[in-house]
Parts: sequence; C-alpha cells; structure tokens
Amino acid sequence: HRHLGHATSPAVEAAIDAGDLHPEPIDWPRLDAYRAAGGYALLEACRAGRVTVETLMAELEAANLRGLGGAGFPTFKKWYFVRQEAGPRYCVINADEGEPGTFKDRYYLEREPHRFLEGALVSAWAVEAEALYVYLRDEYPGLRRVLAEAIAELEAAGLIEPGYVVLRRGAGAYICGEESALIESLEGKPGKPRHRPPFVAQKGLFDRPTLVNNVETVYWIPGIHEHGAAWFADQGRHGRSGLRSFSVSGRVKRPGVHLAPAGITLNELIEEYCGGMAEGHRLAGYLPGGASGGILPASKADIPLDFDTLQAEGCFIGSAALIVLSDQDDLRGVATNLLAFFADESCGQCTPCRVGSEKMLTLLERDAWDAGALERLAQVMMDASICGLGQAAPNPVLGLLKDFRGELAAQNLIIKG
Ligand code: SF4
Repeated sequence: HRHLGHATSPAVEAAIDAGDLHPEPIDWPRLDAYRAAGGYALLEACRAGRVTVETLMAELEAANLRGLGGAGFPTFKKWYFVRQEAGPRYCVINADEGEPGTFKDRYYLEREPHRFLEGALVSAWAVEAEALYVYLRDEYPGLRRVLAEAIAELEAAGLIEPGYVVLRRGAGAYICGEESALIESLEGKPGKPRHRPPFVAQKGLFDRPTLVNNVETVYWIPGIHEHGAAWFADQGRHGRSGLRSFSVSGRVKRPGVHLAPAGITLNELIEEYCGGMAEGHRLAGYLPGGASGGILPASKADIPLDFDTLQAEGCFIGSAALIVLSDQDDLRGVATNLLAFFADESCGQCTPCRVGSEKMLTLLERDAWDAGALERLAQVMMDASICGLGQAAPNPVLGLLKDFRGELAAQNLIIKG
C-alpha cells in the first residue's frame, strides 16, 4: 500500500484542504503579479515561434544546466534524446523530493510556483508533450494546494488547456523519486524501478517517450533565457560552472537552502553562507549528498562540491543535500539510522538490496563491527542491485570504515579487520 499511496484518510484530507498541515500559510506571487514582472513571456515566445527549441537548447547547453535532482545529466541533451523518439510524448516533473536532507525543491515551489510552472511548461513544449504530469511528494500537502491553485489560475487565464497539467500525489515512498519507479507509480502500479534499457526517454509513461525533469532544473530555465547563459554558467568556483541550491542541515549556525556557486567547498560554504559551525561544535564530517552520497571526514572539507568531483572518494553530491556532523554526533547512530532508512525504503524487488540492507543493519547493531563482512556485503549490493537505492545504500558505512576509524574507536566502537 505504501508504494501505491493514495491512502490518506478523509480527516487528513480535510486538514490538507484547510491548510492545517502546513506550518505556516504560504503567501506566493499570484499569476497577475508574476505576469506583471515579465512572467510567462518565455512560454509565450516559444509558442509564438519567436524562440525556437534549437535556440533554447543552445542556451541551456551554454549555461551548462544539468539535472539538479541528482543525476547531473545535461538538460539540453535529455530534451534532444526525447525529441528523437516518435510521438506522442509526455513530460513528467519529478517533485517527489525524498532524499533525506533535501528541501530545495520545496523552497522554490513555495516561493515561486509560477516560475516553476513556466519552466515545466517550456520543457513540455520542447518535447511537444501531450500532457505534463507533476508528481508531488505526498508529505508536501500544503504545496499541493499551492500548485493546484496556480494550475487553476493558468487554466482560467487560458494559458493552458484544462487538464493539460496533471498534478499527482506521490506515494509516500522514497523509491518513487527514482524516475522509472515514479512512472510505474503514475501508472497506478507499485513503485518499483524498471530495468534499463529501454530508458524512459524511449519508453516511459504509458510506454511512450517521456521527459522527466526535476523541479529545480526547470525552475532555472526562464531565468537563464532572460539573463543569458553566462549569468548562470559564470557563477561557479574552483573551475566548476553554475549555481547549486545546497540544502544544509546539521551543526551549523544557519541551516537552510543556500544558493551558492557550484564547486564551492564545505569549509567555504559553512563560513560564507552558514555563519560558521554551531556554538560548541567542531566539524567532524559531512554527508555531501543526503543519505546516499556517502560520508566524508572534516579533513576532506576542501573538495569542490559538484557533480563528478567526489567520485575518487566514492561519494557524490546528488541533489546537494549537505548534512553537517560534529564531534558530538554518534557515528554508529548515523550509520544505523541510514541503513534502517534504506532497509525500510527498499522496494523489495531484488535480493541484494532487500536482504542486504537488512543484513547490513544487523551487522552494524553488533557490539563490534566486522569490517571484512561489511565490505563484502557492500560489494554484492553495489554490484548486483537493480537501482541506485541498493547500489548506494552501503556508501555511508564504507565511508566510515575508510575515513573515520579513529573517531569510531574514540566512540568505543570495536572494529575487527
Ligand atoms: Fe528495489 Fe532496492 Fe532493487 Fe532498487 S535496488 S529495485 S529499491 S530492491
């Protein structure tokens, strides 16, 4: 049921409709205000033929806009691949923001839903999509209301055909953020990742070619067109290009979403954007990419944070969720918490992930860690799991065994092997 979702009770539904499940009422720029500030000019220019898809793709390429859901795949190329396939085609926006520590998509959806919708509609236009689906994380009920109202505004203003944008509730499952599981869920089936090939660009929603883009990726499209590709591309640091919305949580003075240059280091980010470490805390390490991107020690807080830059460490930045740990954090607790999460969220389709994550959790709960057994199990999970969940689940444990032996010993954890 969990993976099928849609099981909310009438009482919860009523609370959602009343806005009670959102911590504070959201005051967002309505359609009139957005249009008065130049909003939807790009969409209208695209539809009128004043901006061609080739021009826009060239702009996105020059801006180096990449998939900000975590994969980092060049956006223009994704459009190109979907456009190669015969129609009808679909466009799906992945708003199932479920990576632990990630909350940037929510930030933009709450503040500028029409900016997001314009980017999404331009993407749908770029692949001549029959319909645009927005798959929204079910734990964002307040946002569902915002988006439903914004879509209704667009319909009333005649900017979209009624029913062209379909807002769908997520299934409350982490795995449904994986694009092929998301598509299965949209089709009304349990959210289980598909084998590839075929890729969703070839056979996606209802077996049709499908463009799947992340919320933040499409959010940037109107701005890149308006200000020019260089405005976005030139903002990187340490040889990287573009902007990244870092979701920072943990032991810093100012957690939250920080828009910063791609390639910034953790030390720089903490100092320049987060007001330093929280009072009385010393940096011990960090998770650079939420639950799945691995873990790095304080001695490696000078690595530029961007797609591909952490590969040598066996880590990745993914959706840029930085969880900052201090000398006062319990490292075994971090590892068991993450593995319990993965074991709970495994879709159960393949043995290495379903059994492996449970087994790894059991090994971590023992008085002493058997490094050899953990590493062998990790290898099987990485080699043989169908999707990224099972492949990435061992990352934090491997990182702890590699870089945190001294800290683990100081926390009285015995490690064998
Ligand atoms: Fe499902 Fe895990 Fe296999 Fe992915 S790796 S398909 S989540 S069981």
